Amino acid sequence: MDLNIKVNDKNHLDIGGADAIDIAEEFGTPTFVIDENRIRENYNRFYGAFSKYYPDFKVFYACKANTNLAVMKILESEGCCIDAVSPGEVYTAKKLGFDGQRILFTGNNITNDELKFVHEQGAVLNIDSVSALERLAKVVDPEGLKISFRVNPMVGAGHHAHTITGGVMSKFGIMDNEASEVYQQAIDLGFTPIGMHSHIGSGILDPEPFKLAVESTMDIAGKVHEDTGIDFEFIDFGGGIGVPYTPEENVVDLDKFAEVNIGLFKEKLEEFDMGSPTMYLEPGRFLVADACVLLVTVNSVKQSYRKFIGVDGGFHTLLRPAMYDSYHHIVDASRMDAPNTQEVDIAGNVCESGDLFARDRP
Ligand SMILES: *Cc1c(COP(=O)(O)O)cnc(C)c1O
Repeated sequence: MDLNIKVNDKNHLDIGGADAIDIAEEFGTPTFVIDENRIRENYNRFYGAFSKYYPDFKVFYACKANTNLAVMKILESEGCCIDAVSPGEVYTAKKLGFDGQRILFTGNNITNDELKFVHEQGAVLNIDSVSALERLAKVVDPEGLKISFRVNPMVGAGHHAHTITGGVMSKFGIMDNEASEVYQQAIDLGFTPIGMHSHIGSGILDPEPFKLAVESTMDIAGKVHEDTGIDFEFIDFGGGIGVPYTPEENVVDLDKFAEVNIGLFKEKLEEFDMGSPTMYLEPGRFLVADACVLLVTVNSVKQSYRKFIGVDGGFHTLLRPAMYDSYHHIVDASRMDAPNTQEVDIAGNVCESGDLFARDRP
């Protein structure tokens, strides 16, 4: 286990060398505290693990994980690129100094105006449907424009049904058996398709489904290469690399993950004679999750049918527990050595019964 939880000599929670209680007193609560060095470390660990086996490798931070301007700026300074899923994220990334070529836009069900806006920002468009392709051709000049497609590798994985983004139930991507036809259609419209993308889900701790997705995406890319003659400049396997949330979960063995998946990637490049395109990955939470802490203050303790510990934040501060039933580890930052003597519900301050951070938590 490694939840990146540290304790200082006052038995307070330590966040990147700062005392959580001092921060709460100085800034009030609820407050998000972000450890800059941890983000830098996570980025370098991730980049290092994969580039070791395949130097032509780029990391695109899936910034929906945390679009805080300071967080994105830290990653900008490390040389990271951005995976954006909304025009607002593209706009934000541009403002922070990412140039268009460092932004890949993977939109889903977007309007003509949004397609045009993203194109004008210079971001590379990763197209999700034939509808978007045909509409893009009408709102921009397609001649020679470099684009990419998201395909459905028919594999899905994730920590919750809502975060599985591949397979027959998924709304994302071009169907595997239609890929060649769609890439050809793009060429016929004047575009220059240069990339292929897949993203199977989020919160993946098990390397097996990821491996299947790499294999399947490479088979689709190989077929498209054979059928249309496209030489891919990049192949992108998305993100979803999980992080432990509970003390029982393990961290992903990154070196093994990289070795296995890049081994497969290289095998398939050779099998289909596809040269050496740049490999992209799009980690989101992996880079930032364990660098971010939400501090709240207990203001009420109520013993009714259950014991409720009431705090000054709620699902408007942190949505995941209410939305996905997600486990977020909770500690008493002021008494890290306090023994667990009872189990309580930790409740937020919003007028809805779903506003709970945890049930039966020691
Ligand atoms: C959400 C998302 C990711 C990253 O997911 P994480 O689980 O945060 O790594 C990557 N690519 C796309 C297209 C996404 O939508």
